[in-house]
Amino acid sequence: MDFTHYIRDIEDFPTPGVVFKDITPLLKDPSAFQKAADALLALVGNTKIDKVIGVDSRGFIFAPMLAEKLGAGFVTVRKSGKLPYKTISQSYDLEYGTGTLEIHSDAIEKGERVLVHDDVLATGGTAQAVCKLVEKLGGEVVQCNFLIELTFLNGAEKVKGYQKEVLLQF
Ligand code: 5GP
Repeated sequence: MDFTHYIRDIEDFPTPGVVFKDITPLLKDPSAFQKAADALLALVGNTKIDKVIGVDSRGFIFAPMLAEKLGAGFVTVRKSGKLPYKTISQSYDLEYGTGTLEIHSDAIEKGERVLVHDDVLATGGTAQAVCKLVEKLGGEVVQCNFLIELTFLNGAEKVKGYQKEVLLQF
């Protein structure tokens, strides 16, 4: 199935000059939504996964579906200040300034095999920070899995040490 038609370009969102890829047309279509989840799962293959990470906030849509199918646990990585328990954090560069991502310090055990999922790979700063958090806790990033890669932003460079799988490239 070609999912391209379910992704909508929104110009000047969230700031002037940016063309935002809106995934909500895909999510609201029952068949496309289910097929996208199945296709993301197929990208993982048969490898064993202990934890699936969903990245705040659109990573939370498909990551739990993947975790359920893989028989893995679901873990959230969130923007700073959102998680209630003890956390470790990782800063990363934004277009202006820096952002910080956090994970619960007990979310991943040493040696666990982790699948990182987010909706979009853009500059790669977010995914790279998530991978660092996994490694700080002693986990192994088995795959970085995305619905969409914006290839012109070269995010692949930031996650080049990891297996990267994407459903759609623009
Ligand atoms: P990066 O750190 O790779 O530059 O940005 C990736 C993060 O920003 C992801 O968490 C993703 O949700 C969000 N993001 C950046 N650009 C877009 C976009 O065009 N569409 C959507 N849906 N998310 C985006």
